[in-house]
Amino acid sequence: MKLYNTLTKRKEEFVPLEEGKVKMYVCGPTVYNLIHIGNARPMIVFDTVRRYFEYKGYEVNFVSNFTDVDDKIIKKAIEEGVSASEISQRYIKECKKDMEAMNVKPATKHPLATEEICGMVGMIGNLIEKGYAYEKNGTVYFRTRSFKEYGKLSHKNLDDLRSGGRALLVTGEDEKEDPLDFVLWKPKKEGEPAWESPWSDGRPGWHIECSVMSKKYLGDQIDIHAGGEDLVFPHHENEIAQSEAANGKEFAKYWMHNAFLNIDNHKMSKSLGNFRTVREIGEQYDLQVLRFFMLSAHYRSPLNFSADLMEASKNGLDRILTAVANLKHLLGVSVKEKMTEEEKTAFAKTEDFVKAYEASMEDDFNTADAIASIFDLVKYANTTATAESSKEYLQGLYDLIVKLSDVLGLIVEKEEEMLAEDIEALIAERQEARKAKDFKRADEIRDELLGKGIILEDTREGVKWKRA
Ligand SMILES: [Zn+2]
Repeated sequence: MKLYNTLTKRKEEFVPLEEGKVKMYVCGPTVYNLIHIGNARPMIVFDTVRRYFEYKGYEVNFVSNFTDVDDKIIKKAIEEGVSASEISQRYIKECKKDMEAMNVKPATKHPLATEEICGMVGMIGNLIEKGYAYEKNGTVYFRTRSFKEYGKLSHKNLDDLRSGGRALLVTGEDEKEDPLDFVLWKPKKEGEPAWESPWSDGRPGWHIECSVMSKKYLGDQIDIHAGGEDLVFPHHENEIAQSEAANGKEFAKYWMHNAFLNIDNHKMSKSLGNFRTVREIGEQYDLQVLRFFMLSAHYRSPLNFSADLMEASKNGLDRILTAVANLKHLLGVSVKEKMTEEEKTAFAKTEDFVKAYEASMEDDFNTADAIASIFDLVKYANTTATAESSKEYLQGLYDLIVKLSDVLGLIVEKEEEMLAEDIEALIAERQEARKAKDFKRADEIRDELLGKGIILEDTREGVKWKRA
């Protein structure tokens, strides 16, 4: 399996640190708002990478953090007059809902920065002890020049950075030894959440979070560290400096980065007013369509979001859904059980589609070509499966399309629609529960129906229902 490594700027054969295992860390969002579709791209891309490793039999330890202490969270908390943790808890919950709707698997562990402060204080102390960091008036800085390999990921040269260095100075940071130095710990300002440390009551810088959480849950060395390409510099460069200086070992073997997402050929930005949240897209489309759209381009190519491309994705996904529904229908009418010799030969040909699919995925996760192989398989199923086919042949095709789609996280089995009489029966049970003041059960039934796309409305004529 080959993947492109930002560190070496070339595609490399994947060799795990430990046989059969993958240790993977993906930088997660800062939770101060609903996630936007730019946040969704790395979630979908690296979830697909994980799923493919699992399909190949690897055991994947997948860690992705939530940054739950940050200037933006504090600003939002002040605006709303609530605590910072109320803001972050709210948006972690909302983010998890969006992830589920996009069929992004929960990480093995989703650490929260605020629960790992102790480890951060420990690593900062270690860096000071080794001479890689220093304290000035309660703030701790990383001494960038002391880490000789600084710039190796972003392929930047320290002297070039230095010449533009004056611009890097932020007010209040003029006490730094060198403009290239970055913050590891900063003292609190009035009204901000803070933790105790040997240097000041304050909070950690953003970069140290990931170094510490990755070390705690995956160890000093990991296989893959991933995120959006906007994180290469300075975030990932700084993570490498901190981790390798503290641990004395190479941090991550492979660095993977997804490219930008534009909207109607413009960069997504608050000032352009073209910010699109995943929630908004979910009101227009099933989020499986968004997932299909994201995977229809290579992850290292810039992707342009537009209504036309979303329509095309919807049609593409529908082709697979229709083929799967058709196979299911044929399975219902087929009378023959076992494959004939002729069918066995026909089924053996599907191996070619699987091989092509795997070859695409193993060429730096070319999901666009992998989808093309699923289309080839769908076309083959559409032309060879009939009501005369055996159940075994139909089931074989059905299972294969579902399996290859599932590796991409695409759910292609339509859920059976609930029958009207079953809905009515549940509504009657809910009315009984309400009469008996068993509101817990009544709510459970409403949620169960909602989960199946049935919306209840209490009207004067009684309870009415409709499909969402
Ligand atoms: Zn990070």
